[in-house]
Amino acid sequence: MNASQGKQPNNNLDKLARVKLLSLDVDGVLTDGGIYYTDSGDSFRKFNAKDGMGIVHLQAAGIPVCIISMGLPGAIDHRARRLGVKYVYTDVANKAQSMREIVDKLDINLSQVAHIGDDINDLPLFETVGLTIAVADAVDEVKAVADLITTNIGGGGAVREIADIIRNAQGTNPSSTVPSFN
Ligand SMILES: [Mg+2]
Repeated sequence: MNASQGKQPNNNLDKLARVKLLSLDVDGVLTDGGIYYTDSGDSFRKFNAKDGMGIVHLQAAGIPVCIISMGLPGAIDHRARRLGVKYVYTDVANKAQSMREIVDKLDINLSQVAHIGDDINDLPLFETVGLTIAVADAVDEVKAVADLITTNIGGGGAVREIADIIRNAQGTNPSSTVPSFN
């Protein structure tokens, strides 16, 4: 059976309409999973501007976004700040614990959270949130249990795809007056 069979937006419209927080992994979701190292030991990642636009528009529509990563702070914090993402947890050992802190701050229920992941360290979060989403190039274990599998790959528009789908499911149109950013 095709892993994505039945795992499409149309099969999850009720859950998409209930989302009050979009949670994002970084490596493999906001990026293609590549981590480049220089000879001096510095590392860097590539983020996607289309994902950034989707995040900004989703937040402007009243849906906050959080980032929960096992990666080290630095570039992740810079990117999050640029996009106005207020809830950023890096160097995290237990993603589910971080998520509980965020939903408490927002006073929402875990069932109203959508999380996009790509690898097995996202599975503890998948067990706690209401809508689980795997990027198209997620590992098989993640795709197998996800409610929804994106058409686009991590770092290649998967986050933009979901941000737009959530906005559409909740009937909010893209605004032309979102804050400027890049
Ligand atoms: Mg990942």
